[in-house]
Amino acid sequence: MTGTDLEKQHALITGGGTGIGLTIARELAARGVRLTLVGRTLARLQQAAKALPRAQAVAADVTDATSIAAALATATQSHGPVSILVNNAGAAQAVPFLETSLAVWNDTINVNLTGAFLCAQAVLPGMRAAKWGRIINIASVAGVTGYAGVAAYVAAKHGLVGLTRSLALEFAKDGITVNALCPGYTETDMAAAAIANVRAKKGVSEEEARAMLAAKNPQKRLIAPEEVAAAAAWLCGPGSQSINGQSIVIAGGEVMP
Ligand code: NAP
Repeated sequence: MTGTDLEKQHALITGGGTGIGLTIARELAARGVRLTLVGRTLARLQQAAKALPRAQAVAADVTDATSIAAALATATQSHGPVSILVNNAGAAQAVPFLETSLAVWNDTINVNLTGAFLCAQAVLPGMRAAKWGRIINIASVAGVTGYAGVAAYVAAKHGLVGLTRSLALEFAKDGITVNALCPGYTETDMAAAAIANVRAKKGVSEEEARAMLAAKNPQKRLIAPEEVAAAAAWLCGPGSQSINGQSIVIAGGEVMP
């Protein structure tokens, strides 16, 4: 595959209007990839798409198969079949296990795991027909090790890593690779929510809360979304076709699976 080939690709990025998803969108746009940004908040997606070349915004809820099918139909109308899927939509709620309601459990599994299942199932027939595809699942360090107080999220992200491994094997002969990226705490709204949560629970300053999150990372810092985006771009570009079924941890050495 050559650099020019990336200009022929169409990436669908769930949660593409904010944080890690938007940063991946910028990185792929810089390489000429056509983009469909998917999420529930259309105005935010439209604003993001307007600032990028060859990008369109499509509203969809990844937990709803009908919504995904409609979004995919719209996405492919102008941009052609999806050849790169970034399953990035996700959400985390920090709740002690014994206080985790079934609703929180189901919501967390639905957005972080079932969403990826539904989106992958929707785009894989097209990738298989084209004999080329890239699926990048944005998991987390919580996909490869346990953390107290976020059992539903950890279970969902471990599930996403399992899905990654299975799909990698099932579609290996079709020119498709499936990998997971596993960042530690990354500078986005999600990390801001985690910082607010620590402040509320421990009564510490923003700086102290940030330092507590960064303390998990041996480099004592939060990850920049650009670092995750660089890994995603590498998985789409030339030279990474043998990287398949991997969970690539981006966390300064926090976890060594
Ligand atoms: P974020 O800015 O909160 O991004 C979450 C995105 O998911 C939003 O754009 C949101 O858009 C979308 N989304 C949520 N529910 C959705 C649904 N049902 N259907 C469609 N889209 C939905 O946080 P982020 O940090 O960039 O998170 C991106 C991914 O990275 C997540 O999977 C997260 O678990 C993972 N991650 C984050 C960190 C971190 O510390 N930030 C670390 C490891 C992994 P709408 O609300 O408009 O739908």
